[in-house]
Amino acid sequence: MLKKGQNEFTQNASSKVRIKVINDKCISAAICIIQAPQTFDLDDDGIAYVKDGTWDEAITIMKAAKACPTTAIIIEDLDGNQLYPEK
Ligand code: SF4
Repeated sequence: MLKKGQNEFTQNASSKVRIKVINDKCISAAICIIQAPQTFDLDDDGIAYVKDGTWDEAITIMKAAKACPTTAIIIEDLDGNQLYPEK
């Protein structure tokens, strides 16, 4: 079963960004979890998902997305403009 933010965008009242993890691209490297532990976690299959609760700062979430070796994390602003990866 898909968890929050997997293959679809999710947003959070605590943040100015929307996040999506593309499951097929996630290789369980867990770098996103190290970079932004309040935002990302791994599910039982080792695929990243987006946590409930207060997320990390948007700049930290962007850093986590940029650190992902497979570009599995997509970040948008609340208007749906893609912030990362840059188009
Ligand atoms: S850094 Fe990328 S590949 Fe690694 S767990 Fe996070 S989303 Fe998956």
